[in-house]
Amino acid sequence: MAENPFFSPSTLPYKLPNFAEIREEHYLPAFERGMTDHLREVEAIAGDPGPATFANTVEALERSGQILKRTATVFMSIASSDATDGIREIETEILPKLTKHGDAIHLNRALYERIKQVATEDPEEAWLLEKYRVDFVRAGADLSEADQERLKELNEELTKVATTFSQNLLRASTGSALVVEDVKELDGLSESAIKAIEKDGKYVLPLLNFTNQPALAELTDRQTRRKLYELSVNRAPENFDLAVRLATLRAERAALLGYPTHAAYSVADQTAKTTDAVEEMLGKLVGPAVANARREAELLSEQAGFPIEAWDWSFYAEKVRKARYDFDGSELRPYFELDRVLRDGVFHAAGELYGITFADRDDLAGYHPDVRVFEVFNADGSQLGLFVFDPYARPTKRGGAWMNNLVDQSHLFGELPVVMNNLNVTKPAEGPTLLTFDEVNTAFHEFGHALHGLFSDVRFPRVSGTEVPRDFVEYPSQVNEMWATWPSVLANFARHHETGEPVPAELLEKMKAAEKFNQGFATVEYLAAALLDWAWHKLAPGETVEDAEAFEAAALERAGIAFDLVRTRYRTNYFAHIFSSGTGGYSAGYYSYIWSEVLDAESVEWFKENDGLKRGNGDHFRSALLSVGGSMDVMAAFRNFRGRDPRIEPLLERRGLLT
Ligand SMILES: [Zn+2]
Repeated sequence: MAENPFFSPSTLPYKLPNFAEIREEHYLPAFERGMTDHLREVEAIAGDPGPATFANTVEALERSGQILKRTATVFMSIASSDATDGIREIETEILPKLTKHGDAIHLNRALYERIKQVATEDPEEAWLLEKYRVDFVRAGADLSEADQERLKELNEELTKVATTFSQNLLRASTGSALVVEDVKELDGLSESAIKAIEKDGKYVLPLLNFTNQPALAELTDRQTRRKLYELSVNRAPENFDLAVRLATLRAERAALLGYPTHAAYSVADQTAKTTDAVEEMLGKLVGPAVANARREAELLSEQAGFPIEAWDWSFYAEKVRKARYDFDGSELRPYFELDRVLRDGVFHAAGELYGITFADRDDLAGYHPDVRVFEVFNADGSQLGLFVFDPYARPTKRGGAWMNNLVDQSHLFGELPVVMNNLNVTKPAEGPTLLTFDEVNTAFHEFGHALHGLFSDVRFPRVSGTEVPRDFVEYPSQVNEMWATWPSVLANFARHHETGEPVPAELLEKMKAAEKFNQGFATVEYLAAALLDWAWHKLAPGETVEDAEAFEAAALERAGIAFDLVRTRYRTNYFAHIFSSGTGGYSAGYYSYIWSEVLDAESVEWFKENDGLKRGNGDHFRSALLSVGGSMDVMAAFRNFRGRDPRIEPLLERRGLLT
C-alpha cells in the first residue's frame, strides 16, 4: 500500500490536498497517528526544561499537530460535502476521540503553567498569547482535579447525545416525509418536481431542515399543506428529550467553569461579551417585527378570503406578490446562469473592488468531478491563493451553503490560503444551470467569506482569515451580498442564457419593490429561533425541564415573539445549529446573524456614501478589516474601517422596523 497521503504535506500548488490519492481507508490511521504525534509534541513543549518563551511555547503549539490538522481539515470538509456511509461511520467513531484529545491538551497542567509564564512585547504575539490563555481557561485548565474529571465526563456525554440528535434528524428527513398516493393531492408542484419524488407508485416529499417547507408555496390543496406542515414541526419527537439533556449538561458545565448559565459562558469571548447586550439588542427588534408580521398576515387573509393558518402563509404570500407587485421570481431565472453569475458577477465585483483576477486551474482536481479550482491573483500579478467551488447538491452533501478553508494563510508556515465555497444548487439533467435570485445572493454571500479567507495577511494560523468571533464572522459575507444587486454588477452578469439580452429594467424594479414584502415573516421566524436558543441556554444549573414542548411555548410567549401564524424557523426537535454538536455549534449563538447584520448595514451605508463599487473603497475594507482576520480586536478593526462605533439604525431601516 502506498504511503498515507496525510503523513506528509501535499506537493500540489498551494498545498491543495491531493484528493485524487485520498481514500476512505486513509482517514482513521491518519487521525490515530495525527493524535499520537500531536500529544508527543505537546508533551515535549510542556516538559521543556528551559524558561517558557513565546517561541518555545505558543509558537511551538501553533506548529504542532500538522498531520492531525491536515487530516481533520480534509475530513470535515468531505463529511459536509460528500459523506458516504463509510465517511459517516468514521465520523461516529472519531468525534468522541477528538473531544478526548482536545481535553488531554487543554487539561495538561504543566503546559498551562508554561503558557502563563510566557511574556512578550510584540502586539500580534501578545494577542495570540491571550487567546491561548483564554482558550485553556474556558476549557477548564484552572479547575481542580475532581472538577476536571467531571468536565471530561460532561464533554464526552455532550458529544454522544449531540451525535444521536443529529442522526435522528437525518433519518427524519425521509422517515417523517410526506407520503402521498393520489397525485392530485400534489397539485401545484411542477411536473419535474413530482417526477423527482415518485417512488414505487407513491410520492415521497422529504423534509428540509427548517419549519416552512418550500413546497408550501405551491401546493394548492389545503389539507396537503397542513399535513406537510405538521410533519415538519413534529419530526424526530425523540429529540425533545435529547435537547433537554444537552441543555442541562451545558448548564452544569457552565457552572463548573464559573458562569451562571451556558449563555453567559458562550458570549463571554464573543463581541457581545454579556447576555445583557444580546437581550437588549433582540429586545429592540421583537415588538416592531411582530407588528410587521401581523400586518402581513392581514393582507394574506384578505387575499385568501378566510383567516389563514401557518401552513397557508407561503402560498398566499406568493399570491400577494403576484397580485400587488406583479412579480414572479421564476421570470428571472433565465437571466441567472451559474457560470455567468460566478465569473461576470461574483468575480467581476471582486475585481472592481480589489483589483484581483482569476484563472481556471482545470489541471487541479477536487474530490468530485463537479468541483472547480481557480487561482486568484493580486492586482500586481502576485499570487493570492486558490478558490475551490462546489456548487451542486448531491445526496451526500448536507443542506445549506458554507465556506471552509483547506489551507489557512499564515506567515509562520509561509502558506497562502486555499478556500472553498459550497452551494446546494440542483444540477439540471441537461442544459445550463439557471439560479433563483436567492441562490445568486447566496453565491455572493459565501464569496464574502471566501474573500475574508483569501485576503488574510497574518502571522499565525490560529487567527487566520475567518477565525474571528462567531458573532462577527457573518459580517463580511453579508456585506458582499450588496454587490449582487449593484446596478453595474447586475448589468454585467444578468443576461438571458439564450439571447444574451440584459434583464429588463422593469422586472428588476418589480423585484426590488417585492423584496420589502414578507420581511415581517422573515424577521419573526429568525428572532423566534434566536430567542428559543437563548431560553434553552439560560437554564440555571440543576434546573429541570419536564416537558420540552411546554418549555418552548412558554419561552416564546415570555419573549413576546409567540405568533401562531409564524412559528420559529427551527423548533427544539430539529434545531441542528444548537443541538447537533456537543460543545461547539451555534448554541447560545443563533443571535449572531442579526448581531453581525448591524455591522453589515453600517458598512453598506459606508460604501454607498463613498461612491460604491471602486478600488479605493475595496482596498480600505481589505486592509482595515478583511486582512487582519482574528489577529486583533475585531471591533477595533471595525472602527478602523468605519471611523466610529456601529449604530443600530441602518439595520432597523433595512428591516422595516423603524417606528
Ligand atoms: Zn455565512
